Amino acid sequence: RKKDDISVNEFIEGIVKGNRVILAQAITLVESNAKRHFEKAQQMIEALLQKQGSAIRIGITGVPGAGKSTFIDSFGTYLCNSGYRVAVLAVDPSSKISKGSIMGDKTRMERLSKNPHAFIRPSPSGGNLGGVSRKTRETIVLCEAAGYDVILVETMGVGQGEFVVRDMVDFFLLLVLTGAGDELQTMKKGIMELPDLVVVNKADGDNVVNANKAMREYNTILHFLKPYTEGWTTRAVTASALKETGIKNIWQLIQQFDCDTKKSNIFFERRSEQQRNWFHELVKQELYRQFYDHPKINQHVSYFENAVMKGEKSVAASAFDLLDLFVNNNS
Ligand code: GDP
Repeated sequence: RKKDDISVNEFIEGIVKGNRVILAQAITLVESNAKRHFEKAQQMIEALLQKQGSAIRIGITGVPGAGKSTFIDSFGTYLCNSGYRVAVLAVDPSSKISKGSIMGDKTRMERLSKNPHAFIRPSPSGGNLGGVSRKTRETIVLCEAAGYDVILVETMGVGQGEFVVRDMVDFFLLLVLTGAGDELQTMKKGIMELPDLVVVNKADGDNVVNANKAMREYNTILHFLKPYTEGWTTRAVTASALKETGIKNIWQLIQQFDCDTKKSNIFFERRSEQQRNWFHELVKQELYRQFYDHPKINQHVSYFENAVMKGEKSVAASAFDLLDLFVNNNS
């Protein structure tokens, strides 16, 4: 059946029962840019907010080639074997509908994609980072209502994805390679301040010695940084996504984090803060969209642009005049 033929109640019922086909269609509804889908999707989300369980949301980032998909395949499989249900989502503002996102590629996460306890969803395609992040946040709500215990959110592509994902997860994991010094240079500024755990991947074979060295280097660097999560010490560990070593240790650390931050209430405070940030972010996005879509603004924006470029009018006066046009033509 097409998603247009499914009622809000049928969606809700299907999701809560763990029906994967319905869940997938519900996510498609959330991802739709059509106005008629928006209201339906919001009704569904509002009802499902009450049905969210106690899932933990884990963000995973790292440069291309760090081993994110291999790691998620191993880690996700480990979690499924330990009795958890795992959902894997991605935030990739660069993915296009035609190309399909890289996550949709069958070769990525081969084992996990066949696991009945796992649900893998590629990044919403197209659109800007703001749009993609809204859709991913709403998809998290749906997956949690469907009973997934661990939500893994992978950041892909370049840009501000890491910061956006950091603000939608409880725990943030940065996957790195050996040669901390070299890698730090290629890393985006500020990224070392985001993780709750740094994992030096590919600690296998001849690389074990170097991986341990990199781990120590990262621990030294982290020692001088303020941990992102109050009351938690961000540290570096080694792992091999390929040989599946260090995976259990990582999960134990995450469980420890979950336990500690819930006890101190930081976990819940952060979640409500994230909701507030998301709310303001949406207001900002929508205002921006309505502003630049407005016929009056469309008509006059180039006049003001030219005036400021030529230095004929002050930038502030131009900006406020343009804003006045919007406000006065909206009431
Ligand atoms: P992504 O771009 O971050 O998703 O990285 P991939 O998971 O695609 O991994 C990039 C390459 O590194 C692939 O050829 C993997 O097989 C390899 N790789 C990933 N994890 C490990 C590991 O733990 N050890 C080794 N030796 N190779 C790995």
